[in-house]
Amino acid sequence: MDRLRQIARRLAKAYGPPPPPRRLPPIDELVLTVLSQNTNDVNRDRAYEDLRAAFPAWNDVADAPVPAVARAIRRGGLAATKSVRIREMLRGLRASGRPLDAAAFRGMRHWALFDLLVSIKGVGPKTAACVLLFSLGRPYFPVDTHVHRIAIRLGLVPPKASAIATQAVLQAAIPAAEMYDTHMNLIRHGRAVCTALRPACEECVLARLCPRVGVGKRGPV
Ligand code: SF4
Repeated sequence: MDRLRQIARRLAKAYGPPPPPRRLPPIDELVLTVLSQNTNDVNRDRAYEDLRAAFPAWNDVADAPVPAVARAIRRGGLAATKSVRIREMLRGLRASGRPLDAAAFRGMRHWALFDLLVSIKGVGPKTAACVLLFSLGRPYFPVDTHVHRIAIRLGLVPPKASAIATQAVLQAAIPAAEMYDTHMNLIRHGRAVCTALRPACEECVLARLCPRVGVGKRGPV
């Protein structure tokens, strides 16, 4: 998909290299992805650090009462919901026979790990792809709200394409070595320019490649 390569190149030129992935252990990345929902990176990281300080082992989180987990992550917002989800996820992993430590997924093929993760309650394709890409450097393309919106506006996928269908298209088209940078740059672009309500098409480096240029001025976006 030549146009997609052009898009990736233009974004790379506009935004420069993204910060490198932290390569946290997979379970840490899994929990971090839940903590990142509906909050910014700063509050997500605060909640993660508080949780690790309160419960040094993931088994402790899995066994803790929900209110105690919620208290530990309150600085990340939506603590009541996220605490239930994190605990369920960890218990689901443990029930699948995986140790809740850095060795949890050692030796697993990436597709087997993806299948295992999405089979656990509370883990969807985006979260599973985040673990594979950010933690393990495997060729998966998480599709969050920004990536999904931009892919549709750019016509990379049909207007009603689901997030999982969009993930499949992007994963197939983007070389593995460029997947992390392109993913991060699409998110940067979605936050700074191609926003949900008022995309700044007039200052967009992708305008020449975009069939929906000016979409913010024509009503529903
Ligand atoms: S031209 Fe507008 S709609 Fe298209 S990618 Fe850029 S900001 Fe988004």
